[in-house]
Amino acid sequence: MSPEPSPCFSIAPTPYGGRGAFASKHIPKDTLILSCEAPYASVVCRKFRKEVCAWCFSWSWEVARKGNWSISVPLEPQRVVNGSTPRKNVTGNGPNGGVWFCQEKCRNDWIDDGEDMELDSDTGHAGVRGLVNAALERCLTTMEKGKTRPRTTPASNGIELGWVSFLQTLEDLESGDDISPTFLEDTWERAEQLSSFSRSSTPTVKDVVRISGRENAKMVPLSPTILSEFELDTARFVLSGLLRRCISLSHTATSLANETSISTNSAGAWLDVLDLQDNTLLHVQSKPHILASNVRVWAFIKFVVHSASTEVRSLSEKTKHLVQVLKKSVDSPHDTRAILGREHGNVFGIWDMAPEGVDSEMLGWGLYPFGSYFNHDCEPSLHKKRQGRVMEYYALRDVCAGEELCISYVDNDEGVDQRRKALREWFFACGCLKCKTELASGGA
Ligand SMILES: [Zn+2]
Ligand SMILES: [Zn+2]
Repeated sequence: MSPEPSPCFSIAPTPYGGRGAFASKHIPKDTLILSCEAPYASVVCRKFRKEVCAWCFSWSWEVARKGNWSISVPLEPQRVVNGSTPRKNVTGNGPNGGVWFCQEKCRNDWIDDGEDMELDSDTGHAGVRGLVNAALERCLTTMEKGKTRPRTTPASNGIELGWVSFLQTLEDLESGDDISPTFLEDTWERAEQLSSFSRSSTPTVKDVVRISGRENAKMVPLSPTILSEFELDTARFVLSGLLRRCISLSHTATSLANETSISTNSAGAWLDVLDLQDNTLLHVQSKPHILASNVRVWAFIKFVVHSASTEVRSLSEKTKHLVQVLKKSVDSPHDTRAILGREHGNVFGIWDMAPEGVDSEMLGWGLYPFGSYFNHDCEPSLHKKRQGRVMEYYALRDVCAGEELCISYVDNDEGVDQRRKALREWFFACGCLKCKTELASGGA
């Protein structure tokens, strides 16, 4: 675990199990307890992506009415033509890489984030993030086209049949079934076997169409299923985390295997993410269809990254190297599973900044590993406030030294029964004073 991210609290076991953050001194009301400068991983929901800046999460009525922010990243890797500076062509007009920005500075920060690469000066490409996001958009477009094609000989490929029926079996999983840690391991091992490539070369985007239409004995289908909107958002969320990890690894010249826990900033490091509670087992036991969904998400991510790696010829050595590291990270489901298991129960919604009393909308979600130290209480001592990419946590009242610092995960104005129902998503029954009091007086 990284050094504790704030002088205001320390992390210790709680009397009711798990860890919590405890005030290390008296904290006056309105004190800024913790500031997380950026999410480790984040996503803007697909339906809002044109009107929410992918970097600072800005959203406005004005832009929503107009349709989209005007700045984006290119769909195709751009090549230098007669020394022109391609970045000036990177606008929201025409096909683009699926992310929008409120200003050029935000786009440049998004490209440069942790990469120190500016725009790839050799090629004009928008960094490894630009490459992967553009590959994702192209995969989706091709898959959408492939979907409308009639399947000539359904499952004519034995390997395809294996993958499809494997997913089908997972879809049929029910909550009464014996879902154990061993079952999860076996399932993912099977997924990895079935999704392996049978030849050393990487697939092109066209292969997605092939696998959903024609026989191709050489190619193993990775993701013949069209993902739901939510799965797609989840895949983009996971990719953002994997990208951050690979980029930070490239700085320290360490490999995936011998990573150390060094948080260089308050966004946290990969090992801080791993340090969070993994909720996979409880999540799949309560909603068995999640397992098939997670397998599809990983297979899709793997396909996208392999597809991106076919585009690297025009890129700098640095970006090529990053893509290789990323490829290693997605070839096995291990890293994707690590993020998926911690996403549920640990992420914070990114809401628009509607004034108090106006219905606001969840535009996306982000993982702030240090913010996840705060447990729930129906009468919380902290509240959180987002400022762009930064998430801040403030004391709602004076807090005594030694007191646990808590935020609320649910709407505190609801009655105890409603709150308990909502908290099922986090797999615990709240035992806070407010709950105890309300339960003793017959609930509400
Ligand atoms: Zn912005
Ligand atoms: Zn409670």
